[in-house]
Amino acid sequence: MVTISDNLATVKWRISAVAERCGRAPDSIRLIAVSKGKPASAIREAFEAGQRAFGENYAQEMAVKAQELADLSIEWHFIGHLQRNKAKLVTPIAACVETVDSIELARALDSRAGRAIKCLAEVNIGGEETKSGVNEAEVILLARQISEMKILELMGLMAMPPYDPDPEKSRPYFKKLAELLARLNEELKLESPLRGLSMGMSHDLEVAIEEGATIVRVGTAIFGER
Ligand SMILES: *Cc1c(COP(=O)(O)O)cnc(C)c1O
Repeated sequence: MVTISDNLATVKWRISAVAERCGRAPDSIRLIAVSKGKPASAIREAFEAGQRAFGENYAQEMAVKAQELADLSIEWHFIGHLQRNKAKLVTPIAACVETVDSIELARALDSRAGRAIKCLAEVNIGGEETKSGVNEAEVILLARQISEMKILELMGLMAMPPYDPDPEKSRPYFKKLAELLARLNEELKLESPLRGLSMGMSHDLEVAIEEGATIVRVGTAIFGER
């Protein structure tokens, strides 16, 4: 039987292999294990195999699991669509909210969090009706406003391209997100440039890393089909 631990080893091997191939340090790429829909016991198993960062899509589900796993020092990433009125569920738990898609949500997080909390601005990179995220024109304003906030710390951009089983089809979108980050850095002129690029999932993480991903969000390849 293939275990979560085996799967994790395979995913880490994939990350190292592609990093090496394109001359990047493997530890410059952060692996977020996406545990949505999976029980706390599966997260515990992955933790025992050395995984520390986990991604959840639903505020309530993350809150329940965080309580069940309170004995572990997990780095929680929120990666789902977050309604402003659910910000208070997320701020006590998440180290990073990867899906900030409005100034209103950013303000809600900033005013609720009693401690430093990282975030990424979510870009609707394929311009899809069904996906959340700001468009390319809006992202500069959003980033500027977040960069002036006291508690919320902007790390970069996150996106999920239109789904296609062929990973090469994701490449133009990953390229576009990396270019957008470069443009953002030119516009914002922050003391230290933003570096975070959260892109790439189970089926297209190699392509994402080739295009500069610093965070990959992997569910199925670690925990199996949902
Ligand atoms: C579910 C999900 C993932 C993981 O997808 P897999 O294909 O299972 O690896 C990554 N990012 C987001 C935003 C998700 O919702």
